[in-house]
Amino acid sequence: MILIAFGTRPEIIKLFPVINALNKQGMEFRTVFTGQQIDLYDDVKDLVYEPDFTFADSFLGEQKHNTLGESFIKICKAAENLFRKNTFDIVVVQGDTTTACAVAQVAFYNGIKVAHVEAGLRTYDMANPYPEEFNRVLISKLASIHFAPTKQALINLNHENISDAYLVGNTIVDAVNFYKARMSYGGVSSKKVLVTLHRRENHIHLQKLFDQLQLLASDNPDLEIILPIHPNPNIQKHRERLSVANIRIINPVGYPAMLKLIRDSYFIITDSGGIQEEGTCFNKKVIVVREKTERPETIDIGLGFIVGQDILKAIDWAKIPPASIAESPYGDGHAAEKIVEYLKGYGK
Ligand code: UDP
Repeated sequence: MILIAFGTRPEIIKLFPVINALNKQGMEFRTVFTGQQIDLYDDVKDLVYEPDFTFADSFLGEQKHNTLGESFIKICKAAENLFRKNTFDIVVVQGDTTTACAVAQVAFYNGIKVAHVEAGLRTYDMANPYPEEFNRVLISKLASIHFAPTKQALINLNHENISDAYLVGNTIVDAVNFYKARMSYGGVSSKKVLVTLHRRENHIHLQKLFDQLQLLASDNPDLEIILPIHPNPNIQKHRERLSVANIRIINPVGYPAMLKLIRDSYFIITDSGGIQEEGTCFNKKVIVVREKTERPETIDIGLGFIVGQDILKAIDWAKIPPASIAESPYGDGHAAEKIVEYLKGYGK
């Protein structure tokens, strides 16, 4: 039996194509929601069916934000309990979250094989992104099968002498294509700049970053800056700094609405990993508010500019319309089908 594990918004977005592909093949599987991002679950829960198992109870009823260690311990405990009571042949985890790391580790301890979707991303800097670089390196050490999203990710895995690694593409392209096919006509109707900032490494820089957004908005009254703000209290506490009329702070939006915001944007300012890929799917320029990225492909094809914490230095660059790209470095939109082909040997 295959178990698909997810606990955060990006995992649900990147795993729903795999779940759809498993269903299409009539394969048996179960799903588990760990509850790690219970506060964002309602926005994306419709992408997947009701999970067979949930650990969400352990994340409910608390006012405070869980630390990394608290989340890790809760997920490990619940996963141990799940694996004690149920038999799985393989557990599928995605990416680099606490959920992926904890579930993979407990599966390994229980002698269950682990399949890693989006394997091989590296910055080779444990502090950037933190703790995700550590999480994915650890998963690579214990997984039995590794689904690399890009040529570079496969090279990284090969350099680490990791066998059973396959280049399949990134399931984000499958996810985007699924909704692109269902989108009504749209386009760049105004100068909307989409901004998302949530990364842990940026929490201490948020005052400075928000001040730059204020300046950008007041110097460019033709721009409309749209910020779907993350519920994390470390981010929410700075929202009052954004007071210029052409900055619109909105609550997090569901995935189809998010893709429309990306499609209709003039350019994007973000520290998110997934949005660097989605921006590329829509041929948008992305100002990457990070020191390093594990998605060099967006930079290499001229759609990304890494700015550290100096957003303003890339605005002139972002305003120049991008050349169109011949093929996406993130895959052909059939990653999930390829993953399921490899998983077939494990489903019982
Ligand atoms: N996203 C969304 N609604 C929002 C903000 C983001 O659906 O209001 C999506 C976004 O399109 C991307 C994913 O959530 O697919 C990114 O999640 P996040 O930034 O939390 O994590 P990361 O990509 O850095 O792992």
